[in-house]
Amino acid sequence: MSSRKAEPREYHGAAGGFGSLQGIARIELKERAGPGAAETLYRQNKPEGYMCSSCAWAKPPNPHLAEFCENGAKATLWDLTSERCTPEWISRHTVTELRERSGYELEMRGRLTEPMRYDAGTDRYVRASWDEAFAAIGAQLHRLDPKSVTFYASGKAALEPSYLYAVFARAYGHNNLPDSSNMCHETTSVGLKKVVGSPVGTCTLQDLDHCDAIFYLGQNPGTNSPRLLRPLMQAAKRGCKIITFNPLREKGLLEFIDPQDPVAMLTQKPTKMSHMYMQVKPGGDIAALMGVIKRVLEIDDEAKEKGLARTLDDAFLAEHTHGFDALRHTVENTGWDAIEANSGIARAELERAGDVYAGAKNVIGIYGMGLTQHVHGSQAIGMLVNLLLLNGNIGRQGAGCTPIRGHSNVQGQRTVGITEKTKLAPVEKYRELLDLETPEEDGHTTVEFLEALLDGSNKGFIGLGGNLAQAVPDHERVHRAWGEMELTVHIATKLNKTHLMPGKSSWILPCLVRAEEDIQASGPQTVTMEDSFSHIYGSIGKRKPASEQLKSETAIVAGLAKATLAHRETRNAKLAWDEWTGDYARIRDLIAHTFPDEFHDMNGRMNRPGGFYRGNGAHDRIWKTESGKAEFTDPTVLNACGIGEADGRFHLVTVRSNDQFNTTIYGHSDRLRGLEGTRMMVMINPNDMERHGLCDGDLVTLIGDAEDDMERTVRGLKVTPYRLPDGCLAGYFPELNPLVPLWYHDKLSKTPASKGIPVRIVKE
Ligand code: SF4
Repeated sequence: MSSRKAEPREYHGAAGGFGSLQGIARIELKERAGPGAAETLYRQNKPEGYMCSSCAWAKPPNPHLAEFCENGAKATLWDLTSERCTPEWISRHTVTELRERSGYELEMRGRLTEPMRYDAGTDRYVRASWDEAFAAIGAQLHRLDPKSVTFYASGKAALEPSYLYAVFARAYGHNNLPDSSNMCHETTSVGLKKVVGSPVGTCTLQDLDHCDAIFYLGQNPGTNSPRLLRPLMQAAKRGCKIITFNPLREKGLLEFIDPQDPVAMLTQKPTKMSHMYMQVKPGGDIAALMGVIKRVLEIDDEAKEKGLARTLDDAFLAEHTHGFDALRHTVENTGWDAIEANSGIARAELERAGDVYAGAKNVIGIYGMGLTQHVHGSQAIGMLVNLLLLNGNIGRQGAGCTPIRGHSNVQGQRTVGITEKTKLAPVEKYRELLDLETPEEDGHTTVEFLEALLDGSNKGFIGLGGNLAQAVPDHERVHRAWGEMELTVHIATKLNKTHLMPGKSSWILPCLVRAEEDIQASGPQTVTMEDSFSHIYGSIGKRKPASEQLKSETAIVAGLAKATLAHRETRNAKLAWDEWTGDYARIRDLIAHTFPDEFHDMNGRMNRPGGFYRGNGAHDRIWKTESGKAEFTDPTVLNACGIGEADGRFHLVTVRSNDQFNTTIYGHSDRLRGLEGTRMMVMINPNDMERHGLCDGDLVTLIGDAEDDMERTVRGLKVTPYRLPDGCLAGYFPELNPLVPLWYHDKLSKTPASKGIPVRIVKE
C-alpha cells in the first residue's frame, strides 16, 4: 500500500468554455452527421424550429444564435449519424453474440433502418415488413390478457404519439402505462403534489431573473441540463446567492465560462457560481434543510422579540399553509448534533445558509434526482418546500420550486394521459369524446411491472423508446425474467441492450428521430412537447429520414392500435387512427378538447416564441391539496436513505457522465469530473481508501448490503480517488444498477433509490 495519500481526480477547467466546443467537435467527427447537421443545430430550440430531444430545459422566446448546449448537440448529432444498422448486418450475428457487446458499441452501429422480427430458431433478428409486424403484434396482443401487458414510454415521444398511446392502452384494456418518470421524478409527481397540489415545478423561466437566493440540491446542470448554466450565471453575476448541496463537487455549480460570450471566451475568465457549496452526505438533505430552517426560525424569533423586520410571513402562513406548528415543534426539538451527523455538514455552515435565506426577498428551490431517488425522497422534497413556505416563497415572482426533469417530454407524457393512476387519467373526456369506457383498476408503475415480470404475470411489453432493461434496479433477476415474456416490442431509433433480451416473440420497429421530416397525408407534420416549466412548443423536423422505411412514432402507435383493435367484434368509429396519423393537428384538437383549460387552441398557440404556458395552480397560490392549503411536512427521518450507517457500509450514489444521456453513452469521457477512459470505476475519498487499504487503480467488487439475503455484486471496478464525503461512493448509472434492490425505492412514489445504495467494497 502506498504511504502517500491518493490525489483526488479533478477537472481544472471551468464548465462550458472551449471544453464544451471540443466535446461537440469530437462527436461530430465520430458520427459524421453530414450536410444539414449544422442547419439542424441552428434550428434547435428556436421558434418554429426543432426542439432538442435530450433534456426538458426551457426554450427561451429570444434565442441566441446557437441555442443548444454540448449535450443537446451531442444528442442531435448522435441521432443524425451517417452509420446504419441494417437487417443485413444484424442478421449476420446471433442475438447471443450481440449481447456481449457494450451498449455504446451497439448504438455506434447507427440508425435502425427497417422493421425486424426475432427468429428464435436461428437466434437472430431478421427483416420484416410493416404489414407483417402490425398484423402479428396485433393478433398476439389480442390473444394476451390486456392486464398482462405493459406499455412503457421513455419520455422522449412527443405529445401526439403519447396521447394516442394512452388511448390505445385504455381501449385495449389496461392502465399499465409507466414512463421513465417512474425511474426519476415520480417522487416529484407524488411528493410535490402532496404538499403544494401540483405535480410539476411552480416557477417559470422568468422567475430566475428575479430571485436573490437559490437553494440548489442534488442536480448537476453541467451535464444534465447545461443551458441552465447561463441563467444561473446571470443570477450569480447580479448578486443572487446560490447555495448548493451535493455530495459531489460538480463543475457546473462551481465555475462556468459561457461559450456564447466572446469576451469570456477570449479572456477565459470563469464566473463563480455557488456562493456556498456543501458536500452533503447521501440522503443528508433532510437534516441539512432542518439546520437551515432552525436558523431561520431563530433569526425570526429574535426579530420578533426586538420588533424588527420579520423573515417569516405570518399572513401567508395563516392564509395559505397547514401544519407549520408541527414542523416548528420538530425543528426546535432536533439537536444540532443529530443534524450535523445526518447531513455531514457543520452547524456554522448551515447557519450561514440560514442567514442567506433570511436575508433574501425571493428564493427559488431547484432540485434533481439527488432528492427524488431516495427511500424518503418525498420527505426531502417536503423539507425544501417547508423552507420555501416560511417566507411565502411559492406563488410569486422570483420565487418557487423547480424540479429539473430529464427527458425532453417526460413531463408532457404524464400531462396527456400516460399514467398508471386511473384518477389522473381524463376518463370522463375519453367517454365524452371517444365513446371509450376505460378500465378502473390502476396499472403498473415501473417497479410494479418488474414485480409482475418476476412473478411471471406480465406477459407482454411494448417500449415506446428507451432501454428499460438497462435502466432498472436488480438487473440480474430482471434480466433472467425478461426473455420469458410472450411478446416484446421496441419502437426505437438505434439498437440497444434491451432489444437483445427478446421475448418468445420479439419485434424492433424503427422510427424517425425528431429532427427528421415527418410527411403524412396532409403534408409535413409538427409535433409538440412540454418542458420543465410547463411550456408547450411545436417542433418540426426538416432532415431527410435515415431510411425510407422509417415511420413516425405516431404512425407506429396508431398502426399497432388499429391492428390490435381490429380483432374486436365491435369497432369504435371514434378511434380514427388513420385520420389522426394523416394529420397531427387533429390529435392536437383532441388534446385541446380533452384538457381545455391547459391546451385550448393548441394548434394556434404551439409555435409561439417561448411556447405557451399551460398554467399551474400552485404558481397562482391555488393549492389542490387535501387541506386546500400548502402543506408543511413534519419529517419522520433525518436522512433519506432507507438503510442507515454501519461499520464497513458505504452509501453509493449513481451518476451520469458528461458523455451520456440516460442510458445512451456517447463516449468514455467525463471531462467535468476529470475522469476519462472507463465507466467501470468507483469514486471514493482518499481517507476511505486508506481505511480500506485501497490504492488508486486497484480493482474492487461492490457487494450489495441491503440486509435482504439477496446477492448483488458488480466486479472489476477501478478505484478512483475523488473528493466525496466520508462513507460515500459514486459510480455510473446504469453499470451499477445491479446493486439497487427492486424494493429499495421512495416510500410514496416507488422511484428507485439510486442515490443512497448500501454497499460494501472488497479488493479483488
Ligand atoms: S440544455 Fe437540455 S434542452 Fe437545452 S440543448 Fe442542452 S440538452 Fe438540449
